[in-house]
Amino acid sequence: MPLFPIFADLRERAVLVVGGGDVAERKTLALLEAGAAVTVGAPALTPVLRELASSGKLRHLDGHFEPDWLADCWLIIAATDDAALNAAVAAAGEVRRIFTNVVDDPQRCSFQVPSVVNRAPIQIAISSAGTAPVLARRIRERLESLLDHSLGHLAALAASQRQRIRASFPDLRRRRHFYDWLLDGPVAALLRQARPAEAEQALQDALAQAHPALPGSVTLVGAGPGDPGLLTLKALRALNEADVILYDRLVSDDILSLARRDATRISVGKRLGGNHDATQDNIHALMREHARAGRKVVRLKGGDAFIFGRGGEEISALRADGIPYEIVPGITAALACAAYSGIPLTHRDHAQSVRLITAHCAQSEDTLDWQALAAERQTLAFYMGVGQLETLGAQLIAHGRSAATPCALIENGSLPNQRVLPTTLANMAHDAGLHGIHAPALLLIGEVTAMAREHAWFGELLSQPSPASPPATRQATSYPAPPAASLPVCAI
Ligand code: SAH
Repeated sequence: MPLFPIFADLRERAVLVVGGGDVAERKTLALLEAGAAVTVGAPALTPVLRELASSGKLRHLDGHFEPDWLADCWLIIAATDDAALNAAVAAAGEVRRIFTNVVDDPQRCSFQVPSVVNRAPIQIAISSAGTAPVLARRIRERLESLLDHSLGHLAALAASQRQRIRASFPDLRRRRHFYDWLLDGPVAALLRQARPAEAEQALQDALAQAHPALPGSVTLVGAGPGDPGLLTLKALRALNEADVILYDRLVSDDILSLARRDATRISVGKRLGGNHDATQDNIHALMREHARAGRKVVRLKGGDAFIFGRGGEEISALRADGIPYEIVPGITAALACAAYSGIPLTHRDHAQSVRLITAHCAQSEDTLDWQALAAERQTLAFYMGVGQLETLGAQLIAHGRSAATPCALIENGSLPNQRVLPTTLANMAHDAGLHGIHAPALLLIGEVTAMAREHAWFGELLSQPSPASPPATRQATSYPAPPAASLPVCAI
């Protein structure tokens, strides 16, 4: 059964601490900080507790625990090193229905004190319900390092101007944008630099403008190849802040589920063979419409937006419309597929360069410099190539690359259903057909790809091509055409 988290207002409320040692001292100090009226009951106190008692900051009950001490208490903390005494305190608390914490004894607690990251007025409480205090502490350390110490100041400043902000931005969406500006913009930066007066001035200046206009914007975000763990922190933040998300087909549900819950999600994916330009115009129109309405738009693309993603065209359209934009790079399929199949794209002995190539458009095959692509000591990464394997292999071999050059096809790279097929230039089309390789799949060509056989560590490594594989001279027509569902998919 999960614990119910609460934050208690203890100002001037009576709290009893039983025990006068170091642990009791720590708990007492935390309670005093929260404004509690603390009574410490114990026959002996630490010097700090003694000092607090003599200066009137706490009340000291000198002696051994008696249930009478509980009268009028809101909370009790039993912090002695005597288990039997702690149990007696807990039992007495239970009878009187007073929440009791027994330090380091979750079984006897009716409330627990969480690990806390304190950026007052912001506080983050972490609990493992007493089962894994070490883990809770680790999480706290992580959060401590993530959250700048100026966060508390920022929250306090925002709170002090809350009414004015509300009055300036009656519309909730625009108010949220203003808060984003407040949290991400110059005010936060000034507080981080310990310049609170200037920070406050910057905030006042922004609010002084009558109905300051906060334009919408578009963030072009690369979502990576599919594994949500490959998103950048910036991508995650953009997803958290988005009002509208225009996403491509290749973007997985797992990634979309990380977006703000009430963001409007619009699929703008398209398949190969569709009318790309019409869709592209439609995407530009959607970006324009939502940004002009003051919304934060995330244009979410598979991999990286600037690698076969038409990101350049979309940025040009945004510039032409005068819409502010940001670009968050993503991990492109070539990098992810290589890493997730143990293939180093460059290698001192085998490959000094990598080329990212699209095999998508039929006409691009004519424009490709086959001579240059067939050169040794380089790795080729073909995107959108599943349907073109026959031609790609034949061209490279015809231009001088060895028919035995190792290749690897990586299907659904970085996803749980990833498959890696090591093959050769001569056999790749046949082997892909044999194993039913579907889009999205990436084709890597070059000596380095042979390493997948030993270094692959994720997903399924498909078996060696069968010895019965036909020779490189076979005709394209001798292999079954890929089913419709295996058509390469354009993520653009
Ligand atoms: N902008 C994307 C590429 C879009 S083109 C990027 O930077 O990755 C779409 C092609 O990318 C697919 O046909 C396939 O070749 C490749 N691709 C994308 N995601 C992939 C994945 N998870 N596994 C294998 N290939 C992928």
